[in-house]
Order: sequence, then structure tokens, then C-alpha cells
Amino acid sequence: MLVPTRHHSRSRVDKRRSHQALKKVQLVKCPHCAAMILPHRVCPKCGYYQEKEVIDVYRGLSKKEKKQKEKEIKGK
Ligand SMILES: [Zn+2]
Repeated sequence: MLVPTRHHSRSRVDKRRSHQALKKVQLVKCPHCAAMILPHRVCPKCGYYQEKEVIDVYRGLSKKEKKQKEKEIKGK
């Protein structure tokens, strides 16, 4: 079995890990419902992209849930 001839120095390990930091997520305001969303993506809250409805967010919701969601989107 092969065994490493020398341990990795602290400097070498730290240099490798210097590229592992996570970047901050950039968010933009949805022009339709004002929720904070990822840029260049369909808004998951209202289903709009570039002022057009792309996804029907009310699909599969009950009457009560639909009313609640409508209120949530209009409230902002
Ligand atoms: Zn939206």
C-alpha cells in the first residue's frame, strides 16, 4: 500500500481552500410582485418573467389557497 511521503503543509492546504468560499447570492426585486428573486429567472411567487405570465402559480390549489396566494401577491 502506498503511503504519502510527506504531509501537506498548512500553507498548501490553505491555498487550496482559498477557492472554496461561497459567494453571496445576488437578488433582484420582481417587477410584478416585488418579491426578492434570482436574476434572469421566472418569479416563483407570481410566475411572471419579463412582464408576462409564464407559470400558472394557482394551478392545483384549492379555492381557499388560491385566495390566500392572490392576497399575498397583491399585498406587496
Ligand atoms: Zn413576482
